[in-house]
Amino acid sequence: MLNIPLRFREIPKKKVWGGTRLRTIAGKDFPEGEKIGESWEISDYRHDVSAVLDGPLAGSTLRDLAQKHGVELMGAEVSRRCTRHFPILVKLIDTDDVLSVQVHPSEDDIKQLGARSASLRPQTEVSGETQRSAAARIKGDRVAKIEAWYILHAEPGAVMYQGLHGGITRETFRHKLANGSVEEALRRFEVQAGDVIFCPPGTVHAIGAGLTLIEIQQTSDTTFRLFDWNRPHSPESPRPLHIKESLAVIRFGRQPTRKAHPAIIEHSPWKRERLVKCERFLIERWSFVKRTVVDKATLSRSMSAAPSPSVSPGHSICGRREAQRACAGESCFEILCCVSGRGTVSAGGQTLPLTLGASILMPAAVHSWTVQPDPQLSILHVTPASSFAFEATATEDSPP
Ligand SMILES: [Zn+2]
Repeated sequence: MLNIPLRFREIPKKKVWGGTRLRTIAGKDFPEGEKIGESWEISDYRHDVSAVLDGPLAGSTLRDLAQKHGVELMGAEVSRRCTRHFPILVKLIDTDDVLSVQVHPSEDDIKQLGARSASLRPQTEVSGETQRSAAARIKGDRVAKIEAWYILHAEPGAVMYQGLHGGITRETFRHKLANGSVEEALRRFEVQAGDVIFCPPGTVHAIGAGLTLIEIQQTSDTTFRLFDWNRPHSPESPRPLHIKESLAVIRFGRQPTRKAHPAIIEHSPWKRERLVKCERFLIERWSFVKRTVVDKATLSRSMSAAPSPSVSPGHSICGRREAQRACAGESCFEILCCVSGRGTVSAGGQTLPLTLGASILMPAAVHSWTVQPDPQLSILHVTPASSFAFEATATEDSPP
């Protein structure tokens, strides 16, 4: 049943900082002029669950498929660990204004914060929210968040903020938070289309204005916001800050860096570049100039042997070693996101178009698929890391 490629109906999100380029750049059928900051392309997060757009499975939700056909959809190894939810979330993001400065926790941070919050007295104000709600949020959303961005379009001079300048300590940072001068502590760098930025937990970051990008992340939204550029809060949608939690999870002195340098793996029969290899997922950029059959059995052998990318010469961006083996291609799902050119992809008699920003899920049950570039096509190829250590699910059955 799941031997065909799947595409999903997008879930648009209006944002005050959102832009209008998902309509023009990614061809989305969004109302003209509406500020859509995010379009969730593949999601099994809480109440935002993707539904198959077309084909024989039209209308089926990703959650249903993951729960009822886990092995066919995700492969035996991943489905054993993710019994309830699909583990990766893909979003398109488009910004007309800078996003808040934030940080995401690691699994270890979550354990520690959860324990600490549980021991706090309830109903005490903490940065605009109560201790009880902070504890509930950590408990109910207790999944770490690793993310990576691929820039599809950047307005001239557009920047990302990621990491802290050398010498910034917890104390100096706390001081800058208190007097509203956080920007001075942030590393800021220009980005262009084609750049890749990897953001491990504990890294302070903010996506700048004038960017259209693909965000690949764990299925999680555990975000600690620590600075909102001194913007006035709207009374309808207050944006609470999580200073205490942020300071607990920021990795002072270990703030990575800027853009990833792709490692070229193969030039034939198609160009493969490894962009990100972390404990949750593996991202490569594949470029095609002729019709190509991708066979997972052959692929999985070369994926485990391939080198890692680096963020700066000599510095690997890998996490724990044992967690970095590429998931064997023949036994796990693949996500394809079109990042330049156009073409089609086919498997099991189903052919789907790939245009800029489009994402397709190739279930584990698909053993080989065919790409037809028109005349050139580059995609992100995303696979889960093999040893997911899922201790919690991203969604709790709580009301919206
Ligand atoms: Zn983030």
